[in-house]
Amino acid sequence: MSAVQRLSWGRYPAHPQTLHAVHWRCDLPHTLSAIVHTHSTTLPFGNGRSYGDSCLAASDHALHMRALDRFIAADWEKGLLIAEAGLTLEEILTLCMPRGWFLPVTPGTQYVTLGGALANDVHGKNHHVRGTLGRHVRRFSLIRSDRLPLICAPEENTELFTATIGGLGMTGLIEWVELQLMPIQSSQIDTLTCRFGALDEFFALSREFDARHEYSVAWIDCLAKGASSGRGVWMAGDHAPDGPLTISRKRRWTAPCTLPVSAVNSLTLRLFNTLYYHRHPSAQQRRAVSYESFFYPLDAISQWNRLYGPRGFQQYQCVIPERCAEAGIAELLRAIADSGRGSFLAVLKRCGDLPSPGLLSFPMPGVSLALDFPQRERVNHPLFDRLDAIVRHAEGRLYPAKDAHMSGADFRRAYPAWERIEALRDPALCSRFWKRVTQI
Ligand SMILES: Cc1cc2nc3c(=O)[nH]c(=O)nc-3n(C[C@H](O)[C@H](O)[C@H](O)COP(=O)(O)OP(=O)(O)OC[C@H]3O[C@@H](n4cnc5c(N)ncnc54)[C@H](O)[C@@H]3O)c2cc1C
Repeated sequence: MSAVQRLSWGRYPAHPQTLHAVHWRCDLPHTLSAIVHTHSTTLPFGNGRSYGDSCLAASDHALHMRALDRFIAADWEKGLLIAEAGLTLEEILTLCMPRGWFLPVTPGTQYVTLGGALANDVHGKNHHVRGTLGRHVRRFSLIRSDRLPLICAPEENTELFTATIGGLGMTGLIEWVELQLMPIQSSQIDTLTCRFGALDEFFALSREFDARHEYSVAWIDCLAKGASSGRGVWMAGDHAPDGPLTISRKRRWTAPCTLPVSAVNSLTLRLFNTLYYHRHPSAQQRRAVSYESFFYPLDAISQWNRLYGPRGFQQYQCVIPERCAEAGIAELLRAIADSGRGSFLAVLKRCGDLPSPGLLSFPMPGVSLALDFPQRERVNHPLFDRLDAIVRHAEGRLYPAKDAHMSGADFRRAYPAWERIEALRDPALCSRFWKRVTQI
């Protein structure tokens, strides 16, 4: 068993994980029991693209699934794919896109594994039309320490099927997944972009146009105050009706090392936000762009998380229910602008009402806001307390995949199904997140 050390994407909390790699599916049961024998519990680790501590094993010894990266079967007539859980979305796209199939749901990076994406039941810019990834999963194989390998599907081992989708790696090791892909005619995305001057304009745009487009998202200037509070840039997109079906082979930049201090501060932030806002037209603009620049702009700089310096950063992502979304998001933005803190990337997204099969899935009908904050305990702590109170009052919730601070009480209130997951948890598996939020 080879072992390497990794942190989560936000590099906070900094608990280096010793990763025990597994290369063959048949080795999973043995590797699982070998780690557990020595360290009492472990956790499946995908590609570490979760920001906080949900991908960190409570024992700091995780089982690395990434080398399980083989395609098992495909039906190109129906767009059905069976693939090992360690394949990344990038690798899946490389195979599927030239054949005219795309991922039905994709998060904002293609460097996540299939197993990791399912364990967080990820959502994308098309949540309002396709829901979460879990809706497109036909079945998967699950390896547990306390029973024989089992197949989970909507009609087979149903309870473990629903508990594992968004189950944060607690219910077993996902070995392979059968996924229904989405047909496309082109790898290009036809986009429509315009800026909006205030939050109510975002809500008007989103209400009028979201349903007409497969994808929709908005960037927000989190530092804007007063009448400009909530100004930003709205972007919608659809797969082009024809064109090439090609994989981008763009050159990527790499942040060469962790910067000694964070490059994100109130000065760089204000400058970036003002320039970015004014770079976009106030009238709607149409443009065809590559799928990579539309879905994965951050992937253009690999290891961009190093720009936040040695202390790392935290992402704050919440969803506010529809009935009070406008007032709730406005209050959150006011609190963030007052603090003078925030990120280049502040994203607003409407979540639709298609239910997920997953018991612990994050999205709910409403609006989600996500921002990155450089890690500074003394500043983040009071701000997050204030934001949490707003989310709590609105009966919204935070996204475990991004979290490093949520209180146990908030988690248990917002995710009442946690007790069913705890009852179904594989006793050999536990994360730092799960321990933090479920120990009463
Ligand atoms: C730039 C960026 C943009 C993002 N955008 C979005 C977005 O738009 N929407 C969204 O929903 N998320 C988004 N995310 C979050 C990301 O999609 C999730 O955190 C994803 O789950 C990470 O997958 P991973 O393979 O890196 O898994 P990890 O982060 O390593 O693990 C995530 C969870 O999956 C479990 N797990 C991993 N592999 C397995 C397996 N084989 N079996 C069982 N459990 C497993 C782990 O135990 C852990 O609980 C983004 C992240 C980044 C860095």
